[in-house]
Amino acid sequence: MTATAPITQDVLTIPRKLPEGPQNLVGMTRDQMRLALIEAGTPEKQAKMRVNQIWQWIYHWGVRDFAAMTNLAKDYRAMLAERFVVAVPEMVSRHVSADGTRKYLVRISGGHEVEVVYIPETDRGTLCISSQVGCTLTCSFCHTGTQKLVRNLTAGEIIGQVMMARDDLGEWPEPGQGTGDNGPRRLSNIVLMGMGEPLYNFENVRDAMKIAMDGEGISLSRRRITLSTSGVVPEIARTAEEIGCQLAVSFHATTDEIRDKLVPINKRWNIETLLKALKEYPKVSNSERITFEYVMLKDVNDSDADARRLVKLIEGIPAKINLIPFNEWPGAPYERSDWSRIEEFADIIYKAGFASPIRTPRGEDIMAACGQLKSATERERKSRRQIEAEAGLGEAS
Ligand code: SAH
Ligand code: SF4
Repeated sequence: MTATAPITQDVLTIPRKLPEGPQNLVGMTRDQMRLALIEAGTPEKQAKMRVNQIWQWIYHWGVRDFAAMTNLAKDYRAMLAERFVVAVPEMVSRHVSADGTRKYLVRISGGHEVEVVYIPETDRGTLCISSQVGCTLTCSFCHTGTQKLVRNLTAGEIIGQVMMARDDLGEWPEPGQGTGDNGPRRLSNIVLMGMGEPLYNFENVRDAMKIAMDGEGISLSRRRITLSTSGVVPEIARTAEEIGCQLAVSFHATTDEIRDKLVPINKRWNIETLLKALKEYPKVSNSERITFEYVMLKDVNDSDADARRLVKLIEGIPAKINLIPFNEWPGAPYERSDWSRIEEFADIIYKAGFASPIRTPRGEDIMAACGQLKSATERERKSRRQIEAEAGLGEAS
């Protein structure tokens, strides 16, 4: 019998409302902002309109300074400046890859750092954002999973990553420009595929994505937002109901035996339980296909038999399978499958009627690829032996 490591979720969430000092308006829902403005003395009758005005300044125009909110009375602006701030995480560094991918290190309160990656493509620009510092889960192939420290990001810190990237890309609209399809869109898609398990920080992720989708501001369609989960089953139905974005799931294996090792949350919610939840998702969320992410690990999960089992398992689910060539990191206990193996695997899936794109690794020269993110302040790494032991791979050689 192997010992099963308990899956814990004891992370710290910083309260949204700090007891003292100015409150950050970024990350508040419309309702929260209304209440905060009333508490600060705004007459109840006016509060909704003030929220609309401030919301547009912050999320449509990208304004941070209350003095620039010119459709508000001067003394009201002064009151806002006293009681509130419009703050986004600070960019600590930016690396630009030869392929145009940008990796940002951003600092959040408490001195923690998270990574954000911008990936330009011909028809879109995707921002990969983080939901936690580190991750409580310990997927054996994931660099983030070896990071010790974890804290949930606040809604403001999550949407703040998008705002920081828009600052850097210079894409707040000029007067006369619209949002959505009429505005500048270098950043057209968001994926929650950075550091952390978004469904272990559900409320903050939800509130942040609601802000991203709000038509009076950043205004991204829910079809342009993809949340990736390792399989937190109880929260999948909630995601459908309360966010309604696209869903990606880190599937990675076709038997419970292997998935237990790769994605240990499988010990809590196994493949069968996960698939049941996924079957319901498109109906409830009225979303398109579910993306099954499948990391290609040499001689671990990349056989023809795996490909055939995979298509059998997902039969009946509107799905596409995104094959991710394993991104290696120092000390990783796996190797990337050979390119020909990945293509043969993709072919079996494609012939069974599913799209099977192979994700081109981006930003490899700056360690910006999926699963390589880990902040500089948390460089402390578990030993290779420890990683392998936890993955159930036996003694390190
Ligand atoms: N915690 C969430 C989202 C972040 S990870 C999740 O697990 O889904 C984003 C994607 O990158 C996941 O599919 C994850 O399994 C994958 N990934 C992690 N490490 C990787 C690596 N080294 N190479 C390739 N993909 C990796
Ligand atoms: Fe966490 Fe996702 Fe990495 Fe697993 S793959 S350790 S869930 S970030």
